[in-house]
Amino acid sequence: MSTPVISNGGINFSLKSGSQWTPEFVIPAELLKLPAPLSFFHILRYLKTQKRTGWLVRGVKQENAESISDHMYRMAVMCLLAPEEDELNSRKCAIIALVHDLAEALVGDLTPDDPVGPDEKHRRERETMAYLASTLKPVNEKASIVLFESYLEYEKQSSAEARFVKDLDKFEFLLQTVEYERDVKEGIESNDVSLKDFMYAAKLIKSPLVKDWTEQLMNERKTFVRD
Ligand code: ZN
Repeated sequence: MSTPVISNGGINFSLKSGSQWTPEFVIPAELLKLPAPLSFFHILRYLKTQKRTGWLVRGVKQENAESISDHMYRMAVMCLLAPEEDELNSRKCAIIALVHDLAEALVGDLTPDDPVGPDEKHRRERETMAYLASTLKPVNEKASIVLFESYLEYEKQSSAEARFVKDLDKFEFLLQTVEYERDVKEGIESNDVSLKDFMYAAKLIKSPLVKDWTEQLMNERKTFVRD
């Protein structure tokens, strides 16, 4: 397998390491000059331009690799199906899904193999969310609070909604994995793309509803993949 080229959509998020890293450092100068919320909206673009690293390192073609916002969008739509009998607020779930990886716009989709360790990764993500919330505060304080609190809720897994969205995070990943496996089968992706070890995520899902979806997906997978 050849070494994949990692594209981050034009933002250089890893120039500085350790405690030197700040959100302002990686935001292009022309965006820093713009007023909120316009600057914030432009920063969201980096969720569209950055491909999820996990696929690229496995050899999925750059043009077929899912972006960070692709992943969050499908999760947010899935939230419409949040089970009300478990007293989940689907709107709250959708907001958490839409912000849970938002910090990656500026931090990048770091993997465990990246030299930036988990503590530093979390520091950068939290700083990014605090920074973005602070830029929004003067124009819409409520939105600023929702943005930051929803992110924290997911990080701390402090509500039933946050825990449901965590299951969706795994399920959406499995769904995308099976879709790429089908692409390999159909010759759209190279036979070098091997993703079967990603199936471990299925065992980590707790919500009965998301477990049912996973079982449907695994049954579908059995029709065209032989491990
Ligand atoms: Zn995610």
